[in-house]
Amino acid sequence: MSDTFEVLDPATGAVIDAVADGTVEDATRAVDAAAAAFPGWAATPTRVRAEILRRCYELMVRDADELTGLIASENGKSVADARAEVTYAAEFFRWFSEEAVRGEGTYGDAPAGGARSLVTHAPVGVAALITPWNFPAAMATRKIAPALAAGCTVVLKPAAETPLTALAVARLLLEAGVPEGVVNVVPTTDAAGVVTAWLEDPRVRKVSFTGSTGVGRTLLRQAADRVLNTSMELGGNAPFVVTADADVDAAVAGAMIAKFRGGGQACTAANRFYVHADVASEFVAKLSAAVSALRVGPSADPENQIGPVISERALTGITKLVDAAVADGARVLVQGAVPATGWFFPPTVLVDVPMGAAILSEEIFGPVAPIVTWTDETELLASVNDTEFGLAAYVFAGRLQDALRLGERIDAGMVGINRGIVSDPSAPFGGVKQSGIGREGAHEGIREYQETRYYSVDWS
Ligand code: NAD
Repeated sequence: MSDTFEVLDPATGAVIDAVADGTVEDATRAVDAAAAAFPGWAATPTRVRAEILRRCYELMVRDADELTGLIASENGKSVADARAEVTYAAEFFRWFSEEAVRGEGTYGDAPAGGARSLVTHAPVGVAALITPWNFPAAMATRKIAPALAAGCTVVLKPAAETPLTALAVARLLLEAGVPEGVVNVVPTTDAAGVVTAWLEDPRVRKVSFTGSTGVGRTLLRQAADRVLNTSMELGGNAPFVVTADADVDAAVAGAMIAKFRGGGQACTAANRFYVHADVASEFVAKLSAAVSALRVGPSADPENQIGPVISERALTGITKLVDAAVADGARVLVQGAVPATGWFFPPTVLVDVPMGAAILSEEIFGPVAPIVTWTDETELLASVNDTEFGLAAYVFAGRLQDALRLGERIDAGMVGINRGIVSDPSAPFGGVKQSGIGREGAHEGIREYQETRYYSVDWS
């Protein structure tokens, strides 16, 4: 390893730590280690792998305070959000420790007779994992846990903004008994160089990426050269729909989670609110009151609920979107004060947002709730689905069948029904359209790291 790079606290801009800046040579050394460890790990009985994964879960629970502190300082999210992330992240190890031993295949007659077919699922091999900064622990464990359960070994590149959490998790995995070489973390400021080296390395058999749709497209193009197995968890633009008969208090409570968790920097974050005209004034009044009451400030104060956004660039991007919406006629209803230093954007409620405003079509990734009203369901659905994204959506309605009927007609991989959160390790996480390819978590999650093998057996 050569140089180092600094990790900053987004609340203050202060340097928290410095980590080794991985080079292309380091990236190749990581693949050397993963490739060398693969045969042994793949041959390890699934019960043994499962017990190690279970231990990973236990150690993350044991060290939850320390991990919470790391996430809160390098990502900036509130202590409560950071703690919730640790719980969520750890659960992937528990879930996949249970899935690891369910290596079911099939065995059956060939319909024409004369043969039996035997179908199994084998680990794909060395997997390259690339993760974003917004959930530094969970985005890593959501990939590492199923990969290890399947019998794969991994090389992981965390986001340069938040490498410390990934390194801390990797240390816990070693302590839990994950053999050396099975998990290899390469923090770097040369994302393109390191990842390209992996995508071009014939020993890497899989790439799983979480991040923006733009970078995902680049990686898909690169992966095409080697017809590489890919999983893509990309950007979102979640609509949050409230019907005329919805429980408005429940909708506001759901909106506070769907929009303001992690300061709005979640791929599943509600990006645009469609509130039926009959309940719009009540919803807007109650949401505005809740948003005004949010405590904004550094995570160093555990009472604060909203931290800074991740970087100055992010702050500029959100500011531009809000300014453009206001120039187009939107009204700022709530916008609180923020600390003078650090990259804080005040939690904001925007009303009278004109259809066609960029803030309704681009991922805001900040604590801003743009609200539009609707009356006609056909027009609502046309507007909701007029996006390249299809990750999450939320529907609040009085009758379950109405919520489901709307949910089925929204192009999204995940729909929260009278609920402001969809993430759950036991459920398939992923998007449709340009929000991604593949699913993480659930039974499906392990399949992303397996190849189906079929044996045709002579039965004469
Ligand atoms: P990003 O795409 O800029 O970065 C994601 C990762 O890709 C980082 O590790 C980064 O270093 C790396 N990267 C950047 N450029 C690269 C390149 N040219 N080659 C290889 N790697 C490269 O995204 P971000 O800003 O870190 O994260 C925010 C985005 O992630 C949002 O769009 C959000 O919706 C999305 N996201 C999606 C999910 C999901 O599950 N669908 C979850 C979290 C975040």
